[in-house]
Amino acid sequence: MAPTIVILGGAYGGLHIAHYLLKYNKEAKIILSSHFFWNLASVRAIVPGSVEDKQIFVPLAEAFARYPEDRVEVIIGSAEAVDTAAMTVTVAMPGAADRSLSYDQLVLATGSRNAQLKQQGNPIASAASPVRPWKADDTYEEIIALLHSTQDKVKAAKHIVIAGGGSTGVEVAAELGYAYGGKSVEKGGKEIVLLSSGEVLDGDIVASSARNELKKLHVDVRTTGAVTAARTLPDGRTELTVEGAGEPVVTDLYLAAVGMTPNTDYLDAKLLNAKKYVEVDEFFRVKGVPSNNVWAVGDVVSKPRAAYFITTKQAAGAAKNINFVLQGNAPVPVTGTDLDIFAVATGPSRGVGRFGSWRLPSLAVWLAKGRTLGMQRMSGYLDGSVA
Ligand SMILES: Cc1cc2nc3c(=O)[nH]c(=O)nc-3n(C[C@H](O)[C@H](O)[C@H](O)COP(=O)(O)OP(=O)(O)OC[C@H]3O[C@@H](n4cnc5c(N)ncnc54)[C@H](O)[C@@H]3O)c2cc1C
Repeated sequence: MAPTIVILGGAYGGLHIAHYLLKYNKEAKIILSSHFFWNLASVRAIVPGSVEDKQIFVPLAEAFARYPEDRVEVIIGSAEAVDTAAMTVTVAMPGAADRSLSYDQLVLATGSRNAQLKQQGNPIASAASPVRPWKADDTYEEIIALLHSTQDKVKAAKHIVIAGGGSTGVEVAAELGYAYGGKSVEKGGKEIVLLSSGEVLDGDIVASSARNELKKLHVDVRTTGAVTAARTLPDGRTELTVEGAGEPVVTDLYLAAVGMTPNTDYLDAKLLNAKKYVEVDEFFRVKGVPSNNVWAVGDVVSKPRAAYFITTKQAAGAAKNINFVLQGNAPVPVTGTDLDIFAVATGPSRGVGRFGSWRLPSLAVWLAKGRTLGMQRMSGYLDGSVA
């Protein structure tokens, strides 16, 4: 009987591995949400009219329609527990009884989500809930509804604050600056403020270039300090208390671009490090599993950091290793996952970045990233050519 491979998570890492294994004639059982969300473009998709839903959401049933029905099963559910001794996964099914799945090989590709800031004891989320459509945190219906409501809020706002000076915050601010910065309110302009607790992009060597780009886009960058409290005013606006700023900042729309946490709550703590990320060996096998048949890639690992192109390399390496093992061969170390490339789109027409310590010209970053935010690659996840 063909071995059963259960893949948890249906995004960049999980889909890549699923396509690879299906091409190599194995049976894969896949647990994932109903649509794949190209979240790299969420920073642009919040600007009304800039990105169509179909450019960033792919129905998973469509992605697997090309394979024989008996070789793949898309299960819309959420992994709740993994028993590595019994080799089973418990899956919570919406509106139905839990399912228990047995596996021969298991892949953990459940990524990361926007952190529950309140749970972390962070007052940023106190009274006013920040808007964060950056990850597929919930079901397809919920993430698409959040994206649409964010677009409506962006449209209605005259003043928008983005909290967080990392690459997501910079990219969001730049997209909004490009669309609305430097215009009068009568002409549809909006005031865009980026709040960062320190130098943007954590002081990376391209930070000053990013600040210059944001300035050109009329984004008001303030690095006074972190947001320490947020509350909704009676008129619906949000009042933010910002470290180092004398006066509170009042805004129509508060977008938070801070804090990611791994989706590993369903795993035994012994498989996780202190920050709850999964620990893997050089083959991308999960450490601490005596049967050596659990693998992990992407943001659940976040090594050397959480990034799409790193996830892709890890998924390619882990997929090959699973296939080797199923053929009775030894796995090989996964290489090429530590490339030090950093690229930040500063709106749809420019970008900043580096390869190691070599600064990349804006044109190169635009061509490689900012022009489309990778959306043209979606088709590879739909037709399987990614693997
Ligand atoms: C706004 C933004 C922009 C980014 N831009 C870039 C960029 O330009 N370049 C770059 O290299 N990286 C970028 N990244 C990082 C990139 O998004 C991640 O590295 C990538 O998403 C990791 O993919 P993944 O498959 O590991 O996990 P994810 O994309 O996080 O997907 C995990 C999947 O698992 C599902 N899931 C979660 N929990 C469970 C469960 N219990 N059971 C079943 N399924 C579950 C989720 O619904 C989701 O479908 C960006 C991140 C953000 C937030």
